[in-house]
Amino acid sequence: MVGGPWEPVIGLECHVELNTRTKMFCSCPNRFGAEPNTDTCPVCLGHPGSLPVPNREAIARIILIGLALGSTIAARSIFHRKHYFYPDMPKNFQISQYDLPICVGGALEIDLPDGSAKRVGITRVHMEEDTGKTTHASASGRIHDAAHALVDYNRAGVPLVECVSEPDLRSPEEAGAYLRELRALLGALGVSDVRMEEGSLRCDANVSVRPVGSDELGTKIEIKNLNSVRSLERALAYEIDRQTRALEAGEVLVQETRHWDEDAGRTTVMRSKEEAFDYRYFPEPDIPPIEPDPAWIEELRARLPELPRARRDRYVREHGLRPEVARVLVADPGASDLFERTVALGAPPERAANWITQDLAALRKAGEGRVGPEHLAELIAMLDRGEITGASAKVALEEAFATGDPVPVIVERRGLAALADADALAEAVRAAIDAHPDAVERFRAGNEGVLGFLVGQVMRATGGTADPRRVADLLRERLG
Ligand code: ADP
Ligand code: MG
Ligand code: ZN
Repeated sequence: MVGGPWEPVIGLECHVELNTRTKMFCSCPNRFGAEPNTDTCPVCLGHPGSLPVPNREAIARIILIGLALGSTIAARSIFHRKHYFYPDMPKNFQISQYDLPICVGGALEIDLPDGSAKRVGITRVHMEEDTGKTTHASASGRIHDAAHALVDYNRAGVPLVECVSEPDLRSPEEAGAYLRELRALLGALGVSDVRMEEGSLRCDANVSVRPVGSDELGTKIEIKNLNSVRSLERALAYEIDRQTRALEAGEVLVQETRHWDEDAGRTTVMRSKEEAFDYRYFPEPDIPPIEPDPAWIEELRARLPELPRARRDRYVREHGLRPEVARVLVADPGASDLFERTVALGAPPERAANWITQDLAALRKAGEGRVGPEHLAELIAMLDRGEITGASAKVALEEAFATGDPVPVIVERRGLAALADADALAEAVRAAIDAHPDAVERFRAGNEGVLGFLVGQVMRATGGTADPRRVADLLRERLG
């Protein structure tokens, strides 16, 4: 019997769908969202007598991932058959890797909330194929009241990389940081779409709890298929709490696999160790060993881009960005690419970063737009020259996002040019004062807050083209 305080121990197994043009062992297209069961062939449907042929580009990509993580690339690795029966897996075995994976060892360095860094060990990175997808057809979407199930084999045979971490993580936040870092790394390598909401990055979390100071591992629980950083952190927090209470109550935990119920906010048992599958792994007889040419590995190493950590450090050092801003930018390869090209056009880095991580990021939530570096650089330059106001700049950005038209064209077309004409501005201020005698009275009686209301009236009347600071000055002058 051991006592607290308790320390969580966490290791993650992350599955990454590669964005190769074709599937892992056949030439079917690898894409998301096609009509069900149209991207299939005898190989990925597991017809007898069909022969799998490994996808060279998928092997190149897993080697890139291994090199980026500092793994050893095995001179010889082999595929195994992993057997189990499930309707979404037509062969009744999955081609995977077992004791001889392509990438062994390595580490992923993560940033902790307190600003320090931590190296999380990588056990292995191996190559496998994805399964199909089963949808339970019921009004509630739940399995137990489904009348039937629909199976889509488009995803069967999509190249899947599994990245297994050492049990080095010590809190839900560290696990979240690890998953975000891995997503940024894979995004920077361009090997996957890493869209957790589409399932191209998924995560199983292993967690146990032990007395602080112990160097033995506790009984681990595996939580399957977490598909967002938030779910991962919530599921771990719940599970750590559950295990700690159980241990404090003197219970003995058993190794089991659990499911995270997002709505209920808790984990439930899927299966215990006794029910664990016996996969009957054996070497895949149809695929020769993978023995990558060392010269090819060096070619791939030369293809490695700047990795997210190095890039973040550079943004802080060279461009003077705050670390949090650098992190948000670098987490999204599209955003950091846009940032660099905007700065190359002469835009001040901090301003460019703010537009990209705030206004543009909000627009991009709804889909890809047509804003390029020239739009942003021009927008910032026009703002700086006082040719447009902040409010007009937001309107121009939205329109550039939708149309891709040059910013000066949009400013002209929409009449967004800053109201530089002093007479017109004075007229707008006078009109606002005349229209709101009550507000004027309250302001004169000492209610400063009313000034904002009057500025707002002028901004509205001028379609956002008046400079709000000049308007405020003019109002004070008139009313003072
Ligand atoms: P299995 O053979 O059950 O898949 P592994 O030893 O391969 O188990 O480990 C799978 C994952 O679980 C790894 O990420 C590893 O770091 C993690 N892990 C292993 N033991 C523990 C433990 N006691 N507590 C937390 N995580 C663990
Ligand atoms: Mg495992
Ligand atoms: Zn196929």
